Amino acid sequence: MLPTISLIGIPTDQHSSFLRGAAAAPAAIRAALASPHGNSATERLTEIGHDFQLLDIGDVAIAENAGDDDCIRAAVAAAPSPLIALGGDHSISFPVVETLARRHSAFDILHFDAHPDIYDELDGNRRSHASPFARIMEGGHARRLVQVGIRTLNRHCREQAARFGVEIIEARHFSDQWRPRFDRPLYVSIDLDALDPAFAPGVSHHEPGGLSVRQIIAILLDLDVPIIGGDVVELNPSRDINGMTAVVAAKLVKELAAAMAANPLR
Ligand code: MN
Ligand code: MN
Repeated sequence: MLPTISLIGIPTDQHSSFLRGAAAAPAAIRAALASPHGNSATERLTEIGHDFQLLDIGDVAIAENAGDDDCIRAAVAAAPSPLIALGGDHSISFPVVETLARRHSAFDILHFDAHPDIYDELDGNRRSHASPFARIMEGGHARRLVQVGIRTLNRHCREQAARFGVEIIEARHFSDQWRPRFDRPLYVSIDLDALDPAFAPGVSHHEPGGLSVRQIIAILLDLDVPIIGGDVVELNPSRDINGMTAVVAAKLVKELAAAMAANPLR
């Protein structure tokens, strides 16, 4: 049997702080993945369906009530690892990581984003899409949190980062040669607004000065530790132009899945 990567859609944007719309992302990412505009090849020179396969579990049934996190946890608990969650806004990372932490011990997180998402709360919401990594670190669910592309660090978030020991590679300090080094299994969280809006306009929070698609793929290509799971979040199809950001999201899903297949869980 081919190495199998689970895909699970989490169509929610109820914890978005500025604009809604990310709930429509899983369908848009799936359509881009299936589109005949491209083929099944990955940049690792493997092919979907030949060297590994994607197992689409479908979407979590979101009801916009307090039970949603339990629905996400149940769906993730039932999905074989490794898995890729299709957001949805970034709030989904907390229940996904929390659930994977029950199955996998001692993993690190590599997080691409314009924002550190470590607010204690935003607008009174502790489940805000600006807070998932505060909840993850408070819960002790990751050994290391390495954030790349950050360019919105206010005083509160700098204090939170120091409190949690977050390793931040700010966008202003990023170079093409920079590579993260890990010696534990990894979870990879990709917020599409880590990318410059020139490459990914279909997001709710345009934050100029970001990474290129090439720079993120270069890092994914060099990952050499087992990857237990990941997510691609914050695509907002209502802000997209000709579906170009959906194609970027699909490309990153493909390359992340290829990295998972190339570094099997032990
Ligand atoms: Mn984020
Ligand atoms: Mn962001």
